[in-house]
Amino acid sequence: MPGAERVPHRRGPSGPMPQVRVVRLGSSAATAILPAMTTVTEGRFQCPCCDYYTFAQRSRHDTCPICWWEDDGSDLGEIDKVSSANHISLREARTNFASYGAADQAAVSLVAPASARVGLRRESRARGG
Ligand SMILES: [Zn+2]
Repeated sequence: MPGAERVPHRRGPSGPMPQVRVVRLGSSAATAILPAMTTVTEGRFQCPCCDYYTFAQRSRHDTCPICWWEDDGSDLGEIDKVSSANHISLREARTNFASYGAADQAAVSLVAPASARVGLRRESRARGG
């Protein structure tokens, strides 16, 4: 059976979702860092900053363990609006994440290491910014 397990497409609460691939982390270290993310399912929402599927719900001011963006509900439709929770715009945060792996340079030491991202689901939404 090549490839990862697949679960059937279903419509999520925020609209159509792409086909979901269930992946499991192989590293026990990563599991220790991200216990809620050992299995990625269609119940996860994409972080607007790093594009990983990290949030169980949106707009609850949870902090993304991958990039340390605080989810105040901001999304790509308002990419240049300064987020009051994060004190920068989503565009700046996405640029920061691309540059040094965190939404804000001050959070570089707080985010999960790149090794913990292996196997986590991510779909880039970058379109010229
Ligand atoms: Zn994130």
